[in-house]
Amino acid sequence: MPTLYLPDLLYTGDAFRSGAGLLVGDDGVILATSSERVAGGAAVVRMAGKALLPGLVNAHSHSFQRLIRGVAEHGGPHGDDFWAWRKMIYQAAAHLEPDDVFNVARMAFLEMALSGITAVGEFHYVHARPDGTPYDDPNLLAKRVIEAAESVGLRICMLRAAYARAGYALPQEAGQQRFYESGDEYLRNTEYLAADLLNASSTVSMGVAPHSIRGLKLDDLTRIAEWAEVRGLPIHLHAAEQTAEIAACEREHGDPPIRLLARSGLLSNRMTLVHAIHTAADEVEAIADAGAVICACPTTERNLGDGIIDARSAIERGILFCFGSDSQANINLFEDARELDYHLRLKRQRRLLLDGIDGEDISSRLFRYATQGGATSLGLSTGSLEAGRPADFFTIDLDDVSIVGVPPRELLPMVVFGLERTAIRDVATEGRMIVQEGRHAQAAEIVCRYRELAGRIESGSIRTDFQAAMPRF
Ligand SMILES: [Zn+2]
Repeated sequence: MPTLYLPDLLYTGDAFRSGAGLLVGDDGVILATSSERVAGGAAVVRMAGKALLPGLVNAHSHSFQRLIRGVAEHGGPHGDDFWAWRKMIYQAAAHLEPDDVFNVARMAFLEMALSGITAVGEFHYVHARPDGTPYDDPNLLAKRVIEAAESVGLRICMLRAAYARAGYALPQEAGQQRFYESGDEYLRNTEYLAADLLNASSTVSMGVAPHSIRGLKLDDLTRIAEWAEVRGLPIHLHAAEQTAEIAACEREHGDPPIRLLARSGLLSNRMTLVHAIHTAADEVEAIADAGAVICACPTTERNLGDGIIDARSAIERGILFCFGSDSQANINLFEDARELDYHLRLKRQRRLLLDGIDGEDISSRLFRYATQGGATSLGLSTGSLEAGRPADFFTIDLDDVSIVGVPPRELLPMVVFGLERTAIRDVATEGRMIVQEGRHAQAAEIVCRYRELAGRIESGSIRTDFQAAMPRF
């Protein structure tokens, strides 16, 4: 028997409607957005005092990086930079066993679920044992991360990352030995993962993630992109996050990363460029021409001092955005959404720079990026509440202190710019409730396991010397 969810307000893509309902079949697929009588009946779930919205899609996550939230906030008299932070990430990745990878991923995914995220794109690059030798199953760690998403109830797109070198003309780096695979090894192991994953579950999918221009030779990157194109899978890569990375790319190839991708014919509408901050006008044009997506991660970018993307220029050229929690410095996709404009406000000393472009108001645009933008980037059919799509959604308490007191027509701006996690009440993937009334059934156990892991790091029984990774003065 289908289920009819009846909230006070339902967001159907352009506005909140009252008196509408979400009718979901037993298979978790939306049958209709209507509250009319259902032939054959339906189980009715009344959601009084709540609004129901499509689930958020977090297009870029490295779940294990949740481990250094807070720990990385010590600099020294001269401050800190991205590269020092990266050493700490390597420390965090260096000694995790498969169970640890599972437990930290569950922690990050739990937090995502509690913030209204129903799908995650996990850019996964820790493949080998701590000493760099492969596990018997070269996809063991990727599978543990998938298992973590399934146990929390999130939809996951496993973006298996390729990382073959430290960078152009650089020797292999000790902290990266768990990431390395040659181009051939990567393609072979990714083929194994595809054989296990593709068509195995409606909530698990995959894509490829050549880590960055610095992490691969161009011919390997090309082979990986071709492999994904043939199979119709998403391709994600970090690009133009740091100015040092631009300079290194120019030394090796004579062009910055995105111009290189464009002239090599690698930009496509299957590709998502993560960050794309430091770009010239012709590079923005090339992204637009190819129909590639930009994944902005402003809460991470502000934390790492990466820079500010000129989102207005990119949007004016028709580029689609999505958002990612990336380093997990914060897990709050609405914060990423609002920061896309807030950073420009601080830079230009004006407000609402992303409002009204092509006639779309800023709140609708940012919410669309946080839902449909992410779904497009990951090749998912979620992101909007329409018949035939999976019932991935969340509800909010209209009386929550962070949003109470707005008329329905102002609710979306309030949600995008004001909503706090306390307002999120229920979260569902494919019609299956994973959060109910703000609670996740496994939260206590997940937190307990995570506390244990963090304790082992703190006590040194996992040899992670964050202090040694910090910059010396
Ligand atoms: Zn990243």
